[in-house]
Amino acid sequence: MVDVHGVHKKFGSLHVLRGVDLKVPPGGVTVVLGPSGSGKSTLLRTINHLERVDRGYVSVDGELIGYRRSGDALHELPERDVRRQRRQIGFVFQNFHLFPHLTVVENIIEAPVAALRRPRKDAVETARRLLARVGLADRADAYPRQLSGGQQQRVAIARALALEPKVILFDEPTSALDPELVGEVLDVIRDLARGGTTMVVVTHEIGFAREVADTVVFMDGGTVVEQGPPSQVLDHPRHDRTRAFLAKVL
Ligand code: ATP
Ligand code: MG
Repeated sequence: MVDVHGVHKKFGSLHVLRGVDLKVPPGGVTVVLGPSGSGKSTLLRTINHLERVDRGYVSVDGELIGYRRSGDALHELPERDVRRQRRQIGFVFQNFHLFPHLTVVENIIEAPVAALRRPRKDAVETARRLLARVGLADRADAYPRQLSGGQQQRVAIARALALEPKVILFDEPTSALDPELVGEVLDVIRDLARGGTTMVVVTHEIGFAREVADTVVFMDGGTVVEQGPPSQVLDHPRHDRTRAFLAKVL
C-alpha cells in the first residue's frame, strides 16, 4: 500500500530523514514512535508530498507520489496532480485544522463538492453518515469553536474519510487534547482499524499502540531503528535505543 523507499530529507544542512524504508500493508495500522525531532512528522509529510524528498521515493498503491518517472529521472508532478494524489492520502493534524468559518457539515463536504464535484445533496448525506460514525450526528450545524477539542478532532477524521482515501496519516492526533478527551478520539481510530482502514499513526500513546497496532515502527535520528508487531517492539525490543525510549515513556 504505502511504500517508503530509501527516503532522505534535508532542511538546509540538517539531515532529518537518513534513508527511511517503510512498507505499510493495506488494511493495517502502523504506529510510529520515536523521540522528539526524530523525523516522524517529516516522514508523514513526505508521504503526501507536503515535503519533497531529496532521495528515494514514496509510492501509494504502486503510484509514485509527487513525481513521474521518465527513464532514470524523476520529474515533479504539476500541483494539480499532486492535489489529486493528496486527496487519496488523508491527513489528520495535531491541531485539527478545521475551517473556522464553516459548520461541521460544511467542513466535511467542502472537498468532495469543490474538488470531486460530488452533488451537494449526496455529499451532505455522506457527511451525516460519517458524523454518526464518529459519534457526532447531532453536531452537524455547529461551528468548530462550539466544539471540544476531541469533537473537533473527530470532525477532522470524518472530513478525511469523506474523500475515501486509500490511507489516513495521523500526526499526534491526541496530543493537543485534554487527557479526558484522548479516549474518544482513540476509540474512533480503533473503530476505523476494525473496519479495515489503512492508517499510519504517529503517537506517544503506548497503550493504544499495544492494543491497536499491527506494526510498531521505532524511529530515531531520521532512521527506522526497528519495526515489528507490538509484542516484539514494545515488549522485547532488540535495540538499546528502543529500550531507552520506552523506559522514558512507559
Ligand atoms: P516531535 O515528536 O517533536 O513532533 P518529530 O519526530 O515529528 O518530532 P520532525 O518534526 O519531523 O520531528 O522534525 C525533525 C527535525 O527537522 C527537527 O530537528 C526539526 O526542527 C526539523 N524540521 C522539521 N521541519 C522543518 C522545516 N520545515 N525547516 C527546518 N527544519 C525543520
Ligand atoms: Mg512531530
